Amino acid sequence: MSEPQAPGLRLENIRRSFTQGKEALHVLDGAELAIQPGEIVALVGPSGAGKSTLLHIAGLLERPDGGEVWLAGQPCGKLSETKRTQLRRSHLGFVYQYHHLLPEFSAVENVILPQMIAGHSRKAASVRALDLLDRMGLKPRAEHRPGQLSGGEQQRVAICRALANQPKVLLADEPTGNLDPHSADGVFAQLLHLVRSTGVAALIATHNPDLAKRMDRVVRLAEGKLTES
Ligand code: ADP
Ligand code: MG
Repeated sequence: MSEPQAPGLRLENIRRSFTQGKEALHVLDGAELAIQPGEIVALVGPSGAGKSTLLHIAGLLERPDGGEVWLAGQPCGKLSETKRTQLRRSHLGFVYQYHHLLPEFSAVENVILPQMIAGHSRKAASVRALDLLDRMGLKPRAEHRPGQLSGGEQQRVAICRALANQPKVLLADEPTGNLDPHSADGVFAQLLHLVRSTGVAALIATHNPDLAKRMDRVVRLAEGKLTES
């Protein structure tokens, strides 16, 4: 019998508080979640519920006050910052509300660069970048700079960049939140299609219930805890 596959991402009893004035604000208070490879999970909850905080912790950008983040079966809490940065580059992809593309580089260069930082040859990186852009319908736009692209196209490039290093986990924070509803719908459909074809475990924060319904599963963050909804 084969071993059951480790979840791509597991959050175990995650706690995080902030002090606001004299009060402690318990933003995450025992949050639990497991996402299997190939599974796309929507993270919903009211503004201020702690969705971004949870994604930062899952993405090893911040450490929780308590609990453990497991990436591809590996606990990350006790690792050094250097090791966490390496894991972030090799195992994680991020998409934000704003694309954060490098404005002086073309679309394809923006997808090549993170692969070269991870040690891939320019040739291999270029082949993969063009393939990803092609799958997002962006091949004719590959040599354009971000400023020459529409908002939806910029965000599609950012999605290609996030998947460039074949991460095990994709984290997205309101990835279409800056787009008009029509573009958001198209970009979201392409995001889901590309993510499904890669087998990455994905956690996508959105406050749009229609988008959430199109994912495999919806988890709601409220009062510091995650519940299936
Ligand atoms: P969401 O993404 O669901 O809107 P956030 O994770 O951004 O929620 O924020 C959750 C709560 O934590 C908010 O009340 C916010 O003000 C607070 N918060 C987030 N980051 C910090 C911080 N670095 N310092 C203090 N409070 C913070
Ligand atoms: Mg947020």
